[in-house]
Amino acid sequence: MPKLNENFLRLEKNYLFINIAKKINAFKQANPDADIIRMGIGDVTLPIAPVVIDAMKKGCDEMGVKETFKGYEDSGAGYDFLKKAVSDYYKSFGADILPDEIRINDGAKSDCGNIVDIFGDDNIILVTDPAYPVYVDSNLMNGRKIIYADSNEENGFAAMPDYNVHADIIYLCSPNNPTGSVYTRSQLETWIDYAKKNNAVIIYDSAYEAFITDSNIPRSIFCIEGAKEVAIEMCSLSKTAGFTGMRCGYTVIPDALTVTASDGTEVSVSQIWGRRQGSKFNGVSYPVQCAAAAVFTDEGMKQIHQNIAYYQENARIISDTMNKLGIKFTGGINSPYIWFKCSDNMGSWEFFDLMLEKIAVVGTPGAGFGKNGEGWFRLTAFGDRQRTVEAMERFESLVNSLKK
Ligand code: PLP
Repeated sequence: MPKLNENFLRLEKNYLFINIAKKINAFKQANPDADIIRMGIGDVTLPIAPVVIDAMKKGCDEMGVKETFKGYEDSGAGYDFLKKAVSDYYKSFGADILPDEIRINDGAKSDCGNIVDIFGDDNIILVTDPAYPVYVDSNLMNGRKIIYADSNEENGFAAMPDYNVHADIIYLCSPNNPTGSVYTRSQLETWIDYAKKNNAVIIYDSAYEAFITDSNIPRSIFCIEGAKEVAIEMCSLSKTAGFTGMRCGYTVIPDALTVTASDGTEVSVSQIWGRRQGSKFNGVSYPVQCAAAAVFTDEGMKQIHQNIAYYQENARIISDTMNKLGIKFTGGINSPYIWFKCSDNMGSWEFFDLMLEKIAVVGTPGAGFGKNGEGWFRLTAFGDRQRTVEAMERFESLVNSLKK
């Protein structure tokens, strides 16, 4: 009889967004005419930039011609033209990354979840709480011990290390999902110092780096001295260029990153990850890689930034509403997420139900991202402009009615 990996039984029964979808469906059944505005799931809504689509079509055409047809890609780590484009992109914001330190993938979620394969199950995992659920779930699946660093109102939802507590693997996400907070240069220096003192590896998720507007905020952990010896970075074109349905991202593992094996030998993390990927991953489709490379051209950057600017304006509209109502929040600047404190000390799910029932606006309850999310709520700026304005008008009237 097959034995189950019983660690899966320790997971929450349903992924957060499935629970939310169930509540929305029940509400829809009871209120078929309700005009629901969704500001919950962090998916983009604008179409992909024309220059990117043209490059993808050209890639498809090449697949239909004998001379330019492509089968399996040799390494499965991405075509040189794309790795070079990503490397140049890193250089543009001050991170010196070689093309061969970059591996192209089908989005950041897969690598965020799979990277744990190469680390032993007896590692202590440190996750900032609240967090993107993949970090916790993928380690629970292997039965690993997880400890948490609290991100809360006191530290502006930017958790810092406790030097009295040891961790082997650390997940950091900046700009943060769900809280919209960003790490400053000096905060990242502290995390790197902590990682060095603990012989730990940082897994740095920069999926929202394209939303950083403040030039003092690092776009990559590799903008910081010493990061190459301790960090792996994962990024994605999902939010940068609307690739959520296209699927392409990249993982950076510097050559300088090594881990000491039990027999004392220094092992290259990049080499081990390459070995893992060689067995389990056959690469990203050629047309998608052509499309991804077009993102990094001058015209591509110009076009994707028009979309990002649209979302940033939505974020400003939401932030302005919070300021007007005197509601505490983080994010909105350098991030497409706005993370605010629920009115009247309500719990996150209680506030979710209230918003759904009274104003038919859907957000994400902070408690779904970890214990420090209780009492907080996430809205995203990825929606339509008019709908965002309308949602904020409804929100304002709800909050004002609670004050009476
Ligand atoms: N990392 C963070 C923090 C995210 O919020 C997301 C998606 O929402 C991802 C990674 C995964 O993105 P993708 O797999 O689409 O690249």
